[in-house]
Amino acid sequence: MRLPKLQLYTKVLIALAAGALFGLIANRFEFSGFVGVWIKPVGTAFIRLISMVVVPLVFASLVVGTASLKDIRTLGRIGAKTLVFYMCTTAVAVSIGLVLTDIVRPGTSLPQQARERLIHDAANQRDSVTPPAAQQPSIRDLLLNIIPTNPIKSLVDGQMLQIIFFALLMGICLTLIAPERGRPVIDFFKGIDEIIVRMVHLIMLTAPYGVFALIASVVADFGAGILLMLLQYSIVVLLGLAIHMLVVYSSALKILTKTGVRRFFQGLRPAQVMAFCSSSSNATLPVTMDCVTRNLGVSPHVCSFTLPLGATINMDGTALYQGVAAAFLAQIYGIELSSMQHLTIVLTATLASIGTAGIPGAGVIMLAIVLGSVGVPLQGIGIIMGVDRILDMCRTVVNVTGDGVCAVVVASTEGQIALDVQGDSQKASARKTAPDDLRARFSEPS
Ligand code: ASP
Repeated sequence: MRLPKLQLYTKVLIALAAGALFGLIANRFEFSGFVGVWIKPVGTAFIRLISMVVVPLVFASLVVGTASLKDIRTLGRIGAKTLVFYMCTTAVAVSIGLVLTDIVRPGTSLPQQARERLIHDAANQRDSVTPPAAQQPSIRDLLLNIIPTNPIKSLVDGQMLQIIFFALLMGICLTLIAPERGRPVIDFFKGIDEIIVRMVHLIMLTAPYGVFALIASVVADFGAGILLMLLQYSIVVLLGLAIHMLVVYSSALKILTKTGVRRFFQGLRPAQVMAFCSSSSNATLPVTMDCVTRNLGVSPHVCSFTLPLGATINMDGTALYQGVAAAFLAQIYGIELSSMQHLTIVLTATLASIGTAGIPGAGVIMLAIVLGSVGVPLQGIGIIMGVDRILDMCRTVVNVTGDGVCAVVVASTEGQIALDVQGDSQKASARKTAPDDLRARFSEPS
């Protein structure tokens, strides 16, 4: 009998449920030792595979993303507005995540004994990427350390903030040198970027097995209590995403634009649905561009600058999720985060979101940087990996919505928006305002 061909997401969800069930059975009938020896390594291999692509992925996608600014001098004003908007909303998103996690404290719902075992496990496996909290530098050192003294060493050591800094600078300078010199370099990095994205796709094919193994070994060790805790954690992430979308984005639209909030969300709906189904800002980009120009009347000049950049560097949903995940795992491991460490999380998650590729599962890879910055053991990723797929779908919706809000805000302040176009709900009339039509209505930006 042939089994029906299932989508990867469906397989991951089935693996999640099956892994949890298998773990519960192993815990109940006391064969968690077998799971630890034979199944857990599959999960560890999956984590190692996704960790493997971090450095090349960040470097290549950032160089390409920044270089896509093209003529940075002409686009200076729009560029500055876009970057400020992206950075500010991302920092607000992480803060919302941190505050919510500090209030709900989902990581403390597991019994003390179980948490001590988790801490003990992590201490045994701790590797060089996770410096102990006591050795964390001050914020001044942290800022100074962003500037690498030897970028090649930063790449080898996986110093992500330094890599991000150097890649941004390299991307900017690529736009400043003669195009015939810059072109081959940009093409080279585009090639690397495509190879790595392809590699991530291949690795993601193993996600059902990895997720099964990760969730099964965690539940086998810790029983049903951990599932309840993961549910609380997921609810905190979803609540944070909802607050960010409904409060922060709506306020930005109300204060900075004349586009009604309702109209905005109606117009962007197809992109949001696509983001939810694909878990990828990149894959959603064509739909986002179409919605923003056709339904919301943003001029193609602003749209073609803000949206591709946003799909690469603006990840509010991802940053919020990273804030929650870091604080949640710190609670599990009994690490009390100081206010300085909270600030470090805001800073690292904001910067890490720049380097997060708009592809499925990239956020959880970059979470390693945020955890490392405050000394939370990387092994914690294994605890939350099982529920990551569902959260990825939701945070991608917020990532894409943030890009759309920025495009509308920048276009409004630049007088590059046509407020008389019809929303997606009135498709027949909306079709009349095609991008070409809009292009004709706006002059080239100064
Ligand atoms: N999937 C997200 C995106 O494409 C990134 C992430 O994994 O958080 O926007």
